[in-house]
Amino acid sequence: MLFAGLLPLGQIPQNPGSYDGNSPQDEIARKLGENMRVQNTATGHGEGRGRIHLLPDTTVDQIAAGEVVERPASVVKELVENSLDAEAERIRVEVREGGAALISVTDDGHGMTPDDARMALQRHATSKLRTSADLSCITSFGFRGEALPAIASVSRMRLLTRLRGTEQGHEVRAEAGKIGLERTAGAPEGTRIEVADLFGNVPARRKFLKKPITEWGHIADWLGRLALALPAVHFEVQREQKKPLIWPATTSALDRIAAVLSEEEAAALLAVELEEGAAHLQAFVSAPDRTRASAGGLYLFVNGRPVRDRLLRHAVLDAYRDLLPRGRYPSAVLFLAVPPTDVDVNVHPAKWEIRFADPRAIHQLVKHAVRDAMAGRAWLGSARSAPRGHREGPERGAADIVAERGDWAFAPGRPMAAPPAISRDTASQLLPQPGRPHGGDANGRLEFASLRLLGQMLASYLVLEGPQGMLLVDQHAAHERVLYERLRSSWLERGVERQGLLMPTTVELEPLTVGALVEAAATVERLGFELAPFAENTVVVRAVPALLSDSDPVGLVQSLAQEIESSGVEPEGSPDQTRLLRAADRALATLACHSARRFGEHLEPGEQRAILAGLDDIPWAPTCPHGRPVAVAMSNQEIERRFARR
Ligand code: ADP
Ligand code: MG
Repeated sequence: MLFAGLLPLGQIPQNPGSYDGNSPQDEIARKLGENMRVQNTATGHGEGRGRIHLLPDTTVDQIAAGEVVERPASVVKELVENSLDAEAERIRVEVREGGAALISVTDDGHGMTPDDARMALQRHATSKLRTSADLSCITSFGFRGEALPAIASVSRMRLLTRLRGTEQGHEVRAEAGKIGLERTAGAPEGTRIEVADLFGNVPARRKFLKKPITEWGHIADWLGRLALALPAVHFEVQREQKKPLIWPATTSALDRIAAVLSEEEAAALLAVELEEGAAHLQAFVSAPDRTRASAGGLYLFVNGRPVRDRLLRHAVLDAYRDLLPRGRYPSAVLFLAVPPTDVDVNVHPAKWEIRFADPRAIHQLVKHAVRDAMAGRAWLGSARSAPRGHREGPERGAADIVAERGDWAFAPGRPMAAPPAISRDTASQLLPQPGRPHGGDANGRLEFASLRLLGQMLASYLVLEGPQGMLLVDQHAAHERVLYERLRSSWLERGVERQGLLMPTTVELEPLTVGALVEAAATVERLGFELAPFAENTVVVRAVPALLSDSDPVGLVQSLAQEIESSGVEPEGSPDQTRLLRAADRALATLACHSARRFGEHLEPGEQRAILAGLDDIPWAPTCPHGRPVAVAMSNQEIERRFARR
């Protein structure tokens, strides 16, 4: 990478006239344009002499500045990253006029010696990278050693630093890249760098700065992202002379989210943590009913760095596909940790884009984690993965608690909030008072079948009247939940019961998919299927899960195959039971979804009642396995309030 563009010996072009014009030098020449010619005359390299010569350092720095210093926010980024690389625990940032007048960053990091302070302003001076081999396992933020000189070349810079454990501080001032003053100076341990009059000596760039409020927006956005990644670092951010924003150090990612975004936003996020091989993911995501108009609520981090990676973004949005209305986006704060050797951060000079060694695996990890979070299935991979009894009684599962914490629909203060999705608590409001005959079972649990069924609405919702209010049940989500819970409990007990097909049928699949099904034969069987490879790209289906025998067997096998392939179910005998459980669980959710009565499907009253009875028969779950609410409630008080009768 460092040596890209150097021609190996023996490949030097014979005829400079036929040079293809793509060398780095040509590239630089194009960028410089006018400047280059002026330089040539000034240094006596007139026409007729060789075209290629070394550029003066200040010019090279200014070119680098074009890449590194896109706008004031990039200066803040470089300076703060340097502070972090110096192990700072407290960082203070000041910004005036959107960064055009002044940017200062003060830290309590390890500081620099006077020699290092001077060196730091010189090109490719870095303390972080010694050989090109180090490039493959970068753990620090900076490594190019070009940020400080690049910034200094387009501003007035003052660097004040005191090495930890020493008595004296040191000050260096530079203007347009030239060191003007150096002296010992009083300073606290750590480093303070001030950048004044950014682009003051490059009028063409200065002209392109946006209004201070816009530049400040970019700065605040980036600082917020960084602060989310580093809850242990104390940040103070001051704009103009205003009261500073303060994000105190904390050990909790969620506390930091609350400080940087808002308490309300943080409270509505669903949390999940997932580990797959060497990759670890911690995610906080919005429930499907909390949407926003842009993807601006996605905060993505890889190994502690904020990134704008398209793959991760796609994986998150993919997890919400079909759950969000068109043009609406989720919020998500996602921390991915992978071994440094599995990721390349050296793709983009400002290091926003990254490249993964195994993009497919990362995509699936993220997508599955987000889905798990939404489904509130916190028990996945956790200690609480023991089978849940078919009739669990009134005690709530961990999954339900998580789902309720997000309180699917209701957030105070939102205009025209949807009625709250039903949870145990809201459900109990709808239960009859003691002594009333209907509405709940002996445990005080809501019984859907005992409520008055008013009918079907929009061929999609079942409308119910309870003693304390009205309930809308999403027929697809409800049926899916019922099928899923039944499949899951029989899977956990003894393997899903099978039903042989009268006429075995064949399904065409990709050869790789057939292979995956064969690999996972034991799991496939436990999931209630009897399959046999028939040809390279065909399997024969002899039996399907009895509970799903009404569904089209070809579609079932296709769903199963897709899930098995993407989950990468371990071959038999794998010790990784959690992973197996997770994969099987996803397969069951997908199968349930495939077989459940559709949205928009007309149901006879008997079928409507069967779904409601099914809900009473499973452990309580306020959402379908894919995360949609099963039911929403509107209390009588709420109805009366809306009609201004109270
Ligand atoms: P890089 O960060 O890529 O090494 P920079 O130009 O940003 O390059 O910084 C050059 C060097 O200056 C760093 O390697 C580091 O040794 C030193 N330096 C910069 N900022 C600080 C700081 N806030 N505290 C301590 N050392 C710093
Ligand atoms: Mg740096």
